[in-house]
This record gives sequence, structure tokens and C-alpha cells, in this order.
Amino acid sequence: MNQFKSIPGTFDVLPRGYTSGSDVIAPVSVWRHVEEAVRRVMVRYGAEEIRTPILEPTELIARGIGQSTDIVSKEMFAFERGSTNYVLRPEVTAPVMRAFLQHNLAQQGGTQRLFYIGPCFRAERPQKGRYRQFHQFGLEIIGSEDARSDAETITCALDVYLELGLREFTVRINSLGDRDSRPKYKQALLDYFLPLSDQLSEVSRNRLDTNPLRILDTKNERERELLKGAPILLDFIDDESRQHYDSVKEHLTEVGVSFVEDPFLVRGLDYYSRTTFEIESAVLGAQSALAGGGRYDMLSSEVGSKKIVPAVGFAAGIERLIMALNAAGKADVDSDCPDAFIVSVDNVAPGWIFSTAKSLRDSGLSICYDLQGRSMKAQMREANRQNARYVVIAGEEDITSGVVQLKDMSDGSQEEVSIELLSKTIGASQS
Ligand code: AMP
Repeated sequence: MNQFKSIPGTFDVLPRGYTSGSDVIAPVSVWRHVEEAVRRVMVRYGAEEIRTPILEPTELIARGIGQSTDIVSKEMFAFERGSTNYVLRPEVTAPVMRAFLQHNLAQQGGTQRLFYIGPCFRAERPQKGRYRQFHQFGLEIIGSEDARSDAETITCALDVYLELGLREFTVRINSLGDRDSRPKYKQALLDYFLPLSDQLSEVSRNRLDTNPLRILDTKNERERELLKGAPILLDFIDDESRQHYDSVKEHLTEVGVSFVEDPFLVRGLDYYSRTTFEIESAVLGAQSALAGGGRYDMLSSEVGSKKIVPAVGFAAGIERLIMALNAAGKADVDSDCPDAFIVSVDNVAPGWIFSTAKSLRDSGLSICYDLQGRSMKAQMREANRQNARYVVIAGEEDITSGVVQLKDMSDGSQEEVSIELLSKTIGASQS
């Protein structure tokens, strides 16, 4: 029978990391380092963690994100079981809004700052930096229209990157205006592109019918030339949205965040209104987007709320962030290693080793020993591989006399230590 392999576009995270094709899969310690930094920064922002299910009703995602988006039209892992349609969540904003409404979190008063970390699933063509199961962290600030909350989501994402030692990014921002601005702009785009439709690619021609805004995302050189003469969204937005946008920019400037205004940044999701933004890393190649987000005041009513609940948020890819850390040389994180590895000379006294390991573990130390009856040399090699701080060498006579050899692996020095004092001696060097 064939040996099973993980599905393309998904990967295992191993204790020590590995490379798979062109991908470098970081060790678990790097993932934890990132997750801990996310939590530290989120707490500074007064955000509280929310965990929503991986499975959501397909309809929530379809309505929330929009039928014409790539995610809904071709990237959902959706299936039917009985009379229910399920989807593996492709993003977490719609689920967080669903949870917010379902549990009536508005009742708790004030604005809710909620953050998450977890897996998302999209049936994209797997490539470097683009996976079918990937991980996002994000912040959603729900219940406020205040422009400070838009600026706060941007500074929060940047603070996570700064916390981890990244320095070079580009923040691109734009405003989509309110609910009424987009239809007017869509019409203007249609008026501009329809006479040029024979110069458009098939994909963009189709988008004229489905969602002309998406033409602005084009990477096609010829179409990018055409875009230069296209109408600009900012010329179609309402006065309030324009003031809101100005305030967001002022707040960012007040705290020294530089940004680039990108009149064609509309992003793939349908639910945005007013602010949209993307953060790119200079050290990433083709898949340079670290994070994206924006204001989504219309989402609540799309997913069943009678009241409009204004909200803004960002989502950031963890794989991309780790790629950026690798590229910037900031991914060197100590892996967990045992405080001591107990080496048994000639494999004597297995019971003694078992109970000594247990009592040292009970005192809070991390202890390993060989379980395969290997030679002393092989046991030492294993202790080295695991980066143990100490090796306890125990032979028959040592155990009887109550004194063992303790080898400090940092300098190779060795001393005799009474078994009773082992935990104290190893523990003392921990601090
Ligand atoms: P989006 O929800 O598409 O705005 O994505 C937000 C962020 O998640 C992006 O900026 C990427 O960093 C990351 N991301 C999105 N899709 C993928 C994917 N298929 N594989 C890896 N990271 C992704």
C-alpha cells in the first residue's frame, strides 16, 4: 500500500522544522514565538481572544464575503451533510461577526475588540506562500465608526511585525466610500471599460458583468496601462466618507505611520466600505501581502442583523509572516530542550531511571532518557541532538552509592552529585 502524504497545499509543523520543495516550514517554536507576540500586542490593544468553529454554514460565508468573489465562487471547501451545507472557514471576519450577533455581545456595552489566531482553508492553486490550509491572526473592532478604530487596526498589525523585529513594510490605503458610492463608481468604471472591452482579457471582460471593481486588481501589464485613464473611486465617495478617510490618515500620521494612497486598492472581498488597506513586506517576493483589512459596516446586515453594526478589522497570514522573518533573519528562536538527559551505563536499572525521571519532572524539570536500550554512545548522541543542558550518567555502582556524574553540556565539565541534590543542582542553573 502507498504511504500516505499530507494533501498538497497543507503541511505538518514539526518540532525541528524542515524544507519541502521551495517551502521552509519553520519549527513549532517559531510558530509559538509568533503566536505569543500576537497575544502580547493584542493585550496592549485591550483586545480579547475569540475562538470560532472551523465549520460554518456555507450561506454565512457566501453572503458575508459575496458571491462574485474568488473565495466564494471557486475556493470554498464546502460540502453537504443531510440538509445542511458546511464550509471550512476561508476567513474569520464573517464568523466573528456571526458570533458577535449570535451572543449579543453588543449588550456587553462599548466597542468590542476581538482577536483570533487559527487555520483557514481555501482551494487555491498551491504555491510558495499560498496554501490550502493556512493560518491567520486578526483583530476585529466591532461597534464603532470612529476613524481611530481604523487607524488602530493598522497600527496593531504593524506593532505585531515590529514586536517580532520586522522593519520594512508598505502600508497602502484607500477609501471605498459608503453603500451608495460604489454603485456610482461601478457605473463609471463600466462606462470607461465597455468601449475598451476588446482590449481586455477574458477574465476582466467577465468581470465587467460580475464585479467591475475586480478589474482594478489586474496584474496584466496592458490592463494596468488602461487603468491609468480609469476613473478613481475617491472622486465618487460621499463627503462623510471623505472626512472619515482624512481622519484615518491624520491619525496614522500623528503616530508616525507612513502609508501610500492607492486609488485602485479595492481588495477581493465584497463587504468592505470606507477604509481598505494592505500591508506588504519588502522582503517577500511574489506573495508580498502580509495583511489586509478594512471597514465592513455592511457585513452585519448581510449576515442577518436588523441593525447596522459598524466594524473594522485586519487579517494577517502567519505563513507569510514567518517567511518574512526567515528572509529578515529574525526566525532564530530557541527550541524547547530538556534540562537533563539521563544516560544509563550498560542500560542498567531501568526502573531507577524511570522513577528518577518522574521525581525530577515532579520538581518542574524537563527530563528525557533513552527508551530503546541503546549504547551509551548513542544515548550521548541523542542527548546532544535534543540539546539537553545536562547529562546525568548513571551506572550500577553510582546508583548504589547514591552519587552520579552530572555533565554540563555547555562547557563539557563534569562533577559528582548526590542523587538527592540532583534536582536542586540542575534547577539552580535554570535561572
Ligand atoms: P485575505 O483574507 O485574502 O485578505 O488574506 C489576508 C492575509 O492572509 C493575506 O495578506 C495573506 O498574508 C494571508 N493569506 C491569504 N490567503 C492565503 C493563502 N492561500 N495561503 C497563505 N496565506 C494566505
